[in-house]
Amino acid sequence: MIRSSYFTFKILRYDAKNPSREPYFQSYHIKVLPGLTVLGVINRIRDEIDGSLAFRCSCRSAICGSCAMVINGKIDLACRTQVATFGSDTIILEPLPNFEVIRDLVVDMTPFWDMYEKIQPFLIRKSPDPEKEIYQSEEDRRKIDQFVNCILCACCYGACPVIADEPGYLGPAAAAKLERFVLDSRDERPAEALEQVNTPKGVWACDTVFRCIDACPKDVRPTDAIIGLRKALVKNRYNRILGLNKK
Ligand code: SF4
Repeated sequence: MIRSSYFTFKILRYDAKNPSREPYFQSYHIKVLPGLTVLGVINRIRDEIDGSLAFRCSCRSAICGSCAMVINGKIDLACRTQVATFGSDTIILEPLPNFEVIRDLVVDMTPFWDMYEKIQPFLIRKSPDPEKEIYQSEEDRRKIDQFVNCILCACCYGACPVIADEPGYLGPAAAAKLERFVLDSRDERPAEALEQVNTPKGVWACDTVFRCIDACPKDVRPTDAIIGLRKALVKNRYNRILGLNKK
């Protein structure tokens, strides 16, 4: 027989339009069936109990990346977190750290998207467009496999201690996306295009504490990307000194 249990959800509430009211936790006592996710619960709270609760969601399948939040102290996607997996019957939900809160669990992602846009997250070609699709070998595709899996959920950005201390830091997701294109056999961006991250707030700011890797729900390893970009920058510098840069 499928048994349901009661859980208490404590959700951090705040409205940036009413800043005189300090953030506060609001509790909801909810009956939960096995298999119900945290996203399922907050959808129920909003639909049946409190329509003022604000959060983002879309696909419910860990693909759109919009329901990232802090769940009992751990950053994760609400849609892939089953309530019954917690040992405790109290679950605390808070918005992603390192962002301004707009309302409740909704944060202002502008700094995240600004960094994403800055790295030019698309294939850059110098060659004329081919008549057919550009062939990519299986071996070359494997080089970008993990980075292609990024769903831009910003879990890594929320977990990064450098962002907390260093506003304007490139951040793990933008680095992972840049490395995705640098490693892509079809991309022809010039070596100079990497110079924009060759700064104290670019790839050199990372303290390699790996929290981005722990937080990523798609097994992307942004720290590997940062190390890869650092290596590429050093190699470009030597090539420039020796006059070997092809791009
Ligand atoms: Fe999300 Fe992982 Fe991409 Fe960071 S690297 S945005 S945690 S999927």
